[in-house]
Amino acid sequence: MRLWIKNIPQYLNKTITLYGWVDSRRDHGKIIFIDLRDRTAKVQVVFSPAQAETYKLAEKLRVEWVVEIKGRVNLRPENMQNPKILTGKIEIAAEELQVISQAQCLPFEISDDNKSVNEETRLKYRYLDLRSSRLERNLINRHRIIKFIRDFLSERDFIEIETPILTKSTPEGARDYVVPSRLEPGKFYALPQSPQQYKQLLMVAGLERYFQIARCFRDEDSRGDRQPEFTQLDLEMDFPSQEDILKLIEELLKELVTKIYPEKKIKEFPFPRISYQEAMKRYKSDRPDLREANAKGEKDPNELAFAFVIEFPLFEWKKEEKRWGAVHHPFTRPKLEPGETIEGVIKKIKQNPSLLLANQYDCVLNGNEIGGGSLRISEPELLKAVFEILGHQPEEIEAKFGHLLRAFKYGVPPHGGIALGLDRIIMLLQNEPSIREVIAFPKTGDGRDLMMEAPSPIDEKQLKELHLKTLNS
Ligand code: ASP
Repeated sequence: MRLWIKNIPQYLNKTITLYGWVDSRRDHGKIIFIDLRDRTAKVQVVFSPAQAETYKLAEKLRVEWVVEIKGRVNLRPENMQNPKILTGKIEIAAEELQVISQAQCLPFEISDDNKSVNEETRLKYRYLDLRSSRLERNLINRHRIIKFIRDFLSERDFIEIETPILTKSTPEGARDYVVPSRLEPGKFYALPQSPQQYKQLLMVAGLERYFQIARCFRDEDSRGDRQPEFTQLDLEMDFPSQEDILKLIEELLKELVTKIYPEKKIKEFPFPRISYQEAMKRYKSDRPDLREANAKGEKDPNELAFAFVIEFPLFEWKKEEKRWGAVHHPFTRPKLEPGETIEGVIKKIKQNPSLLLANQYDCVLNGNEIGGGSLRISEPELLKAVFEILGHQPEEIEAKFGHLLRAFKYGVPPHGGIALGLDRIIMLLQNEPSIREVIAFPKTGDGRDLMMEAPSPIDEKQLKELHLKTLNS
């Protein structure tokens, strides 16, 4: 395995071979200095005319060339040492140099200030943009967060299960991305807006505690800082109380912050639980920012004010469409009054849907919604009543949700879960202004991948195989 630059200080007075990118180059009189960079660190390399052939080659070096350098690890003269950087006490006296790959003039400079570069250019050349140490740090911490989550949940007997990407439409409130079927003309798969129905079916299957770092796809008009595909920590468990789920999540977030972001402070623990009604009354928002601003009106990004908003209404009246909609999604369990029966709730749904509250909870951080979930309906007749009030016809209910209604007839445990928006959480913890800064290959606000140039036309042959005709072909 090649030697990482961060480990060079262990090789003082030894001759080593290094690989990396030329980060910068300075000529001082007769001496050429370069900083060589790999993922872990940078180190200063010195080329002196005494090594005539190597020196001649070094004169040609330009930034971002990939090179192999053999040289001796020397202590720098004391007045040249820089204790602030990992390799600041040493330098490499180059003996041999090999150019592995040249780089042509870059469309922008590689630097942590890349936010000032035009974003379309950054996205088109994302592989260059990602060379900045800021984006590299974002991706490394993203990895650490996901690894932490996997370990935390595995220790609590959750198992990670993958669910299909080619599936059927799920009603999470957005438009589906669809994929035409070649083998079944005129039929389509949908990409999951979330693994909602699969995770409920895993509970019917008796897997009891599921999680997944899940990719979700929602075809929404460009609205704020959204991506057509994004990543959720999705989980579901059986026999939960609402508090079981909230406690699990607040423990997870607290431990994550303590381990990976020790410089950050959680404002209040346990996280405050605020009812939807109170949040709207006191903060005029269902995702209130509970941090206090200082005299200048600023808020400390290292202060993390988490909260749970609970007791949402089950339904909302959609004025434009003149129909009831689910505030969370149709699978959310209504709150039952003490002694209330399922028949009683069904009656209420039919007569006065606005009276019902939901076993729904949102997780909020510094004024952002970072997740949400609910306890679920597991009685087929109750679920049917919800679909009906949402305006679905009986045949449609059977066609769209028959599988779930059927599954619930074979021994279903009460269950519930939550999903956390990982991109947004990582953005907030990394103090970044947009989720695009914490996703390796994000799309533009209007859903284009500028590097791959997607979406793109497909050829006639592919269209024909898929039994498709575009309107202008
Ligand atoms: N599927 C829901 C969502 O994506 C989360 C949940 O209810 O667990 O918002």
